[in-house]
Amino acid sequence: MSILVVGSVALDTVKTPYGEIEDALGGAATYFAAAASYFAQVNLVGVVGDDFDHNQIEFLKSRNVDLTGLERQTGKTFRWGGVYSNDMNDRETTFTHLNVFESFSPKIPESYRDSEYIFLANIAPELQLDVLKQVHSPKLVALDTMNFWIEGALPALQEVLGKVDILLINDSEAKQLAGENNLVKAARAIHKMGPKTLIIKKGEHGALLIPNDMNFFVAPAYPLETVFDPTGAGDTFAGGFMGYLARTNSINKESLSQALIAGSAMASLCVEKFSLERLKDLTGAQIHGRVQEFSKMMHFDADGAGFNL
Ligand code: AMP
Repeated sequence: MSILVVGSVALDTVKTPYGEIEDALGGAATYFAAAASYFAQVNLVGVVGDDFDHNQIEFLKSRNVDLTGLERQTGKTFRWGGVYSNDMNDRETTFTHLNVFESFSPKIPESYRDSEYIFLANIAPELQLDVLKQVHSPKLVALDTMNFWIEGALPALQEVLGKVDILLINDSEAKQLAGENNLVKAARAIHKMGPKTLIIKKGEHGALLIPNDMNFFVAPAYPLETVFDPTGAGDTFAGGFMGYLARTNSINKESLSQALIAGSAMASLCVEKFSLERLKDLTGAQIHGRVQEFSKMMHFDADGAGFNL
C-alpha cells in the first residue's frame, strides 16, 4: 500500500550538547518519508527553493520514495534552527524562515491521488483541507498539528479534524486543544472533534494510543544512553507508525498497537545521529532488533507469584 505525505522539506541548523550542524537536511515530510520507506512505498509532496541540492535526497529515491510531488520554486528553501538544552528536554527555536514554504500550495500529482494512507504533516490546517479535496478515497488519514495552529487557526483545524481518522499530537498540545488539564479528559474531548484514534506523544516518556473505546496502549521511549539530535523524532515516529499500518494494511487495535512500537523504534534510531543520517542506511535486522528490545522491555507476567493477593 502506498502512503502520501505532505509537509516541509527543510534545511535545519541544529545545536545539541553533542555538536552542531548548519543547513542539514530536515523537514517533517523528509523525516516521515525516510522512516516510512522501510515499510511501504511513499509519495512525497513538498517544496524546496532553487538553492536546494537534490543530491541530499537521492537516498530517498533509492528507498523508493516518489519525489514527483516535490516542487522546486525560485527562492530559498525553508530553514529552521533549534538549540537543545543539556538534558535535551527543552528545545528553543532560534529561527523559522519560511521562504518558499510561505506560499506553499500543495498540488497532489495525479499518480498520487489513489494513495491509500495519508499523512498530513504539520502545515496550515487550510492546506491540510486542500490536500483532502485532491485525493480520491484513502483508507486512513492521519494528521499532525502544533500549538501555532491551535492558537491561530482553530476553526480550520476543527474542520480538518472532522475529516481525519488519527491525530498525532504531543501531550501539552492535546490538553491545549481540548482546554483540559487532564490527558484522559482531553482525549475524550478530542475524539468528539472527529479522530477515532489519538496518538499522544510524550517525548522521552513514550507514546499513548487512545482509541475512542478508551482501551489504552502505551509504549515507553527506548532508554538511550546518548541522544545526539532529537530533531525529527516526532515525524520519524509518525513515519514508522503509518509505514507499519500501510505494510500490514489492517487497522485494528492489534495493528495500531504494533504500529505504536514501530514508530517508537524508528524514533529511537533516528535520534542516535544528527539530521537524517541514521535513517539513511538502516537494515531490516536493525529495526527488528530494536522492536525486539521493546518487546523484552515491555513484557511482564501479571499472573506471576506475588501478584496473587
Ligand atoms: P520535530 O522535531 O518532530 O518537531 O520536527 C522538526 C522538523 O520540523 C525540522 O526538521 C524542521 O525543519 C521542521 N519544522 C520546524 N518548524 C516547522 C514549521 N513551522 N512548519 C513545518 N515544518 C517545521
